[in-house]
Amino acid sequence: MHELTIVKDIFSTLEEHYQTKVDDIQKIQITAGLLSNVQPVLIQNAFDAFITDNPSYQNMELEVVVNDIVAHCHKCDKDFKVLYHKFVCDCGTPSADIVQGNELYISQVIFKQTL
Ligand SMILES: [Zn+2]
Repeated sequence: MHELTIVKDIFSTLEEHYQTKVDDIQKIQITAGLLSNVQPVLIQNAFDAFITDNPSYQNMELEVVVNDIVAHCHKCDKDFKVLYHKFVCDCGTPSADIVQGNELYISQVIFKQTL
């Protein structure tokens, strides 16, 4: 399952980066571009399955932010938002030069408030 692999990768990255402090993470936010082939619902399901198998993470929350696709028009020298997979600028020039939309990364990590 593609999404479970992604979730495992995310936790490996977190463990490597934060080591024992991983237990203090309350919430992680992932940003996924529309072209990254990631379905937010499936990621959420994979995340839920992962924390069920790893009880030390059971209070952790996940938020998935989806990024629009943005391409660059070389004629206007500006970026434009790609809607409905139509890679054509307002001026009519087609462009497959993608500036945003392929990405998948951890965009935010929130730690528990320790009082
Ligand atoms: Zn243009």
